[in-house]
Amino acid sequence: MSLTRGDQPPRIVTPPPGPRARELARRLAEVEAPGVNTVVPGRSPQEGPILWEEALGANVLDVDGNLYIDLTSGFGVAAVGHRHPRVVAALAAQGGRLLHGLGDVHAHPGRVELASRLAALAPMPDAQVFFAISGAEAVEVAIKTAILAAGATGRPRVLAFEPAYHGVTLGALAATSRPEFRRPFAQHLHPHLTRLPYGAPPPEVERELARGDVAGVLLEPIVGREGVLVPPPGWLAAVAALCRTHSVPLIADEVFTGFGRTGSLFAVEPEGVVPDLLCCGKALGGGMPIAAVLGRRTLFRCWEVPGEALHTSTFLGNPLACAAALAVLDVLIEEDLPARAATLGEELGKRLFTWKERFPEVAAVRGRGLLWGIELASRQAAKRLVAQALARGVLLLAGGPEGKVAQIVPPLNIGTEQLGVALGILEETLASSLTIPAWT
Ligand code: PMP
Repeated sequence: MSLTRGDQPPRIVTPPPGPRARELARRLAEVEAPGVNTVVPGRSPQEGPILWEEALGANVLDVDGNLYIDLTSGFGVAAVGHRHPRVVAALAAQGGRLLHGLGDVHAHPGRVELASRLAALAPMPDAQVFFAISGAEAVEVAIKTAILAAGATGRPRVLAFEPAYHGVTLGALAATSRPEFRRPFAQHLHPHLTRLPYGAPPPEVERELARGDVAGVLLEPIVGREGVLVPPPGWLAAVAALCRTHSVPLIADEVFTGFGRTGSLFAVEPEGVVPDLLCCGKALGGGMPIAAVLGRRTLFRCWEVPGEALHTSTFLGNPLACAAALAVLDVLIEEDLPARAATLGEELGKRLFTWKERFPEVAAVRGRGLLWGIELASRQAAKRLVAQALARGVLLLAGGPEGKVAQIVPPLNIGTEQLGVALGILEETLASSLTIPAWT
């Protein structure tokens, strides 16, 4: 079977994971390091992962021929849908010219064009772009920029919040709050990091900044993976104002929220917040690995040193990824997908808010645009929802510090009918009194 349309309802032909998925997962577990190979030790093969064979629009086809509706957008990447034809065409055209550039030594025209587009779209005036490969690397670049810009001023500290997910490379991990990610590496993490509760009263933030040793304030304008938390009204603006007063750069991590996810191009915009640095990734490449920091030209001046680049990487500004990103930006703007996320998100929100009344297992509903979190009563309940949704053809992820928050993150251009089908399945699942499988 081959996917020709991405707007289909699910079709389960064999209970997932099917035989081919189980066989491939078994082989992968033998040759790939544990932890990242998707097979959880001690679990039966029936609880193993599916493997993706193909994807288009909001549909994913697994290796056993099961068709799903993807409410994860593949970790928020497929904002314009999977395998968007414009992205595929851009990749084919670029693939016929140049696959690889020379990082910080020799650039290529697509990189010039993408940097220009991103600088023009950036929410801060007179912006420049620093490319990266992953969201975590973008966070590292932003933190390094803040530290470097603070330079000789003796401001070593970074202020971050909890919960937060900023990536798991050593630098970004210092700012990521989840104890189980941090604990084994605790002695090796950047020590000059202070964490306040997300939404902490502005006077508490001010107390930290008033010490005069903070190089940067790092926050997610809406917390994504760690539970979908929307800050109290006015909080972001208050923190931004404090940063300005104390001349401390504000770093917005929009790796998850960027490019329309929450109903505006960037989540800081409706709050009237102008960050000094903004990290983005995920949706930018439409499936190709690319990320970036957008920032004020004056701040980026700190990287202007004689000799070799202080931060770079082999694949920086990769030509294929730049071509894909340019196509993604075209689609986002031409189809006005941020606005679609806002209008569709409003409808979606209305429906999701009824879940709290209708389903005893639903403890809270939070979100904006097409980023929603359904907090379940327990980790078990969230696992059960995710497993049963999968069995019925809906892909869903659970996150949050306790794994209790099911995330609804569809492509921004998902059809209303298709989204309705997926929600109907989730509602039936929540309403069902099926017994909890023994492994949950
Ligand atoms: N920041 C945020 C807000 C994220 O959601 C993520 C990924 N979930 C990252 C950073 C890290 O991105 P990556 O996985 O591409 O390193």
